[in-house]
Amino acid sequence: DRPLAEVDPEVAAAVADELHRQQSTLEMIASENFAPVAVLEAQGSVLTNKYAEGYPGRRYYGGCEYVDVVENLAIERLKALFGAEAANVQPHSGAQANAAVYFGLLQTGDTVLGLDLANGGHLTHGMKLNFSGKQYNVVSYKVDAAGLVDMTEVERLAKEHRPKMIVAGWSAYPRQLDFAAFRRIADEVGAYLWVDMAHFAGLVAAGLHPNPVPHAHIVTTTTHKTLGGPRGGAIMATEDLIKKINSAVFPGLQGGPLEHVIAAKAVAFKVAAGDEFKDRQTRTLAGAKLLAARLLQQDAADAGIKVLSGGTDVHLVLVDLVDNHLNGREAEDRLHEVGITVNRNAVPNDPLPPMKTSGLRIGTPALATRGFTDADFTEVADVIVEALKPDYDEAKRDALRARTATLAAKHPLYPNL
Ligand code: PLP
Repeated sequence: DRPLAEVDPEVAAAVADELHRQQSTLEMIASENFAPVAVLEAQGSVLTNKYAEGYPGRRYYGGCEYVDVVENLAIERLKALFGAEAANVQPHSGAQANAAVYFGLLQTGDTVLGLDLANGGHLTHGMKLNFSGKQYNVVSYKVDAAGLVDMTEVERLAKEHRPKMIVAGWSAYPRQLDFAAFRRIADEVGAYLWVDMAHFAGLVAAGLHPNPVPHAHIVTTTTHKTLGGPRGGAIMATEDLIKKINSAVFPGLQGGPLEHVIAAKAVAFKVAAGDEFKDRQTRTLAGAKLLAARLLQQDAADAGIKVLSGGTDVHLVLVDLVDNHLNGREAEDRLHEVGITVNRNAVPNDPLPPMKTSGLRIGTPALATRGFTDADFTEVADVIVEALKPDYDEAKRDALRARTATLAAKHPLYPNL
């Protein structure tokens, strides 16, 4: 029963340092969030000790009566949150959930149509070094010159290549997809429609983004991005497909489920059904729109800071720095120096390699969770714009860092940890 600090001071120190980093800087990685203490508590519970291969009521181990309670709660809450017919909450991560979709519905070599990685798709949507790109015949669609997914092009590719599955979803796209149009095209060519809503699931839960569940055969999500829960994945399916998905997850891809994480997912789904969560998602969206507007205003004055697609309808803004004096990596480092964490991101037709890139992806979910208001997001947007200007020097860096420190202090994170 000795505490972590005593058993392993090195790990304890790194955890404490990470807590301090999260508390003292401004987290704007679009895929990150701060899980509530109740989620951390469930995830750090004794459920980590339990083996529970199988599904509630049909386990291959004894002693599963309490983890069954937890997993059933997670399944029922997830179904209710999104109006799904059936759900699987066992995937260890978003990539595992996506692997189960391929494994459950397709044969190796089948054709899949998904959004290209450099155009905002995820690795698991067919990137050539990922299992999806290696095991399946992937055809990719791209965004058009305005930065938008063009459904005429999706339809043309679908008719030409007759995919067995069409993927709608993204890791870096600032607009909403037309799920009804995707389903119409999928039906025309006899394909499954799979929506990967990992990024925008929180907005959907709050009613601020169209829900893909009524349109898609399969919907996957991560539970740790806008949804604000523990790191993990989940799958929603129609009643007729859930058996295939369940056996793809276990025994197809995974062994014992992480019941402590499933408990934390259940807590997160409960939180996501509440009014406080809706308010948080509303501020997330408003913050992204304010940031986009401030960057667009700067672009008009300066050139060199472009906003892809000219704005945002979601929790993130994509910045195109092709004409800027900084590349994506330099801009990421610059913001890091002033206490703002973002990630560099390839833009369509990026002239630079993935380790550099010519873009930034900036998201607002984590700061909204901290309690940021419109006024706070306006201040952050101004700091970002100032940091990216050519007149940046040490004095300016220190002044901007002081401004981010003030914002961080105004919204204490995990004050009791
Ligand atoms: N799907 C999308 C759209 C994502 O953006 C991500 C992660 O960034 C994933 C799946 C994978 O999630 P994980 O990192 O949990 O494997």
